[in-house]
Amino acid sequence: MTEKCGVVGVSLDGRDAARPLYYALYALQHRGQESAGIVTHDGFQQHSHVEMGLVGDAFGEDDLDALSGAAGIGHVRYPTAGSVDSSCAQPFSVSFKSGSLGLSHNGNLVNADEIRDELAAAGHAFTSDGDTEVIAHDLARNLLEEDLVRAVKHTMGRIHGSYSLTITHDDTVLGVRDPQGNRPLCIGELEDGYMLASESAAIDTLDGDLVRDVRPGELVVLQEDGEGFDSYQLVDNEHTAHCFFEHVYFARPDSVIDETLVYEARRNLGRELWDESGVETDVVMPVPDSGRAFASGYADAASETTADGEPRDADDDGVEFAEGLMKNRYVGRTFIMPTQDERERAVRLKLNPIKSTIEGKTVTVIDDSIVRGTTSTQLVQLLKDCGAEEVHVRIGAPAIVAPCYMGIDMATRDELIAADKSTAEIRDEIAADSLAYLSTDAVADVLGKERIDLCLGCVTGEYPYDIDGEETDRDVSRPEVGGQQLPADD
Ligand code: SF4
Repeated sequence: MTEKCGVVGVSLDGRDAARPLYYALYALQHRGQESAGIVTHDGFQQHSHVEMGLVGDAFGEDDLDALSGAAGIGHVRYPTAGSVDSSCAQPFSVSFKSGSLGLSHNGNLVNADEIRDELAAAGHAFTSDGDTEVIAHDLARNLLEEDLVRAVKHTMGRIHGSYSLTITHDDTVLGVRDPQGNRPLCIGELEDGYMLASESAAIDTLDGDLVRDVRPGELVVLQEDGEGFDSYQLVDNEHTAHCFFEHVYFARPDSVIDETLVYEARRNLGRELWDESGVETDVVMPVPDSGRAFASGYADAASETTADGEPRDADDDGVEFAEGLMKNRYVGRTFIMPTQDERERAVRLKLNPIKSTIEGKTVTVIDDSIVRGTTSTQLVQLLKDCGAEEVHVRIGAPAIVAPCYMGIDMATRDELIAADKSTAEIRDEIAADSLAYLSTDAVADVLGKERIDLCLGCVTGEYPYDIDGEETDRDVSRPEVGGQQLPADD
């Protein structure tokens, strides 16, 4: 699974924004490795540099020097909607009669095609098949007739889906979060300005302070003198639909989302996992690095109570936490595996078991998800080959039964092992002695939310947006798009 994008925006008092944006993008590199880009505005002119590749490869000193201006946005991307080439790399930038616009988008619209068709019929020429350009054109059209705040509001009334956006309109930087707040976006205060970022780790990188999350349905406009920001609550929604997988998997553990440190949320999910389905084994070990925080919480809870929920005796230490799998960090995404035999060897190249920790022991291995099941099957086999007497698998999230339409590259239903198999069938397929997932209720409890305020689409098959051919979990429908008029002014 890969998160699709990270976005950032910076408005400073006089200092060029390019380098702070560049460092912030470094902090968000885990959210997208396909392309990186920055758009700045110096008060007269917009500047843009967008390249395929990692942040470190996409920018040289000269590129950063050429990006003048104290206002700017940045983006790291792994493609979702749109093709995998530079035409969809972001920020998207364009000059209209209404001024210049730059857009960085994290998320995925589910009605982009309808709006694109309507705008194309009205004469808008599109250069990419991505949904971000659709937002840019819609906003530009509204800006011809309205001020910035109204134009954004009208575009929000037409687009349906998941979006956290950072935008430059000339040298004004804005941030927008969709009315259900599916993807994260937060505000940070710097010594000489303000910033917006997908995750607070980017604010930390610039020695800033996290102010707060952008609220679902809110437009935040950073003041051009770097003195503050203005807030406009443009759309109110009864319920949110935060992506619970941000906490489980995508976000950096050192980021704070919804006032909770992601690492702590993962540890608490691990504690719940022990309470729901703990099994007494000699050792518990994480799949590095994704399972580490879960395993640490799980082992902590196991040191306090038995698997039956009884307090431990004073001389009973519970389950030992051990790092029994070592990760080779140098196996890249482009690793070529031409034959089935070599594919099966892949897990061995990525993970090396420590025999002395495993041999003759009963082992619980903890991870955050099972997608296709291939890695889990190989992992269980690897541990058994190493002499594990029993291998129990525990997952710190519910089973993934359906794809994501909101900007996560997960897998199709055909590829998801849990789409048509029960937990017992998956256990047999991966040849584990037992397998358990965390319940959706436990996830909601740990995140301090009602289930209806989370997106649980990929684990329930019911989505918080109106998606063709899929069920919804709430009363939601996409806006009517059609005709050439702007929505009625209010
Ligand atoms: S479907 Fe799953 S991954 Fe996608 S937004 Fe919802 S919770 Fe997140």
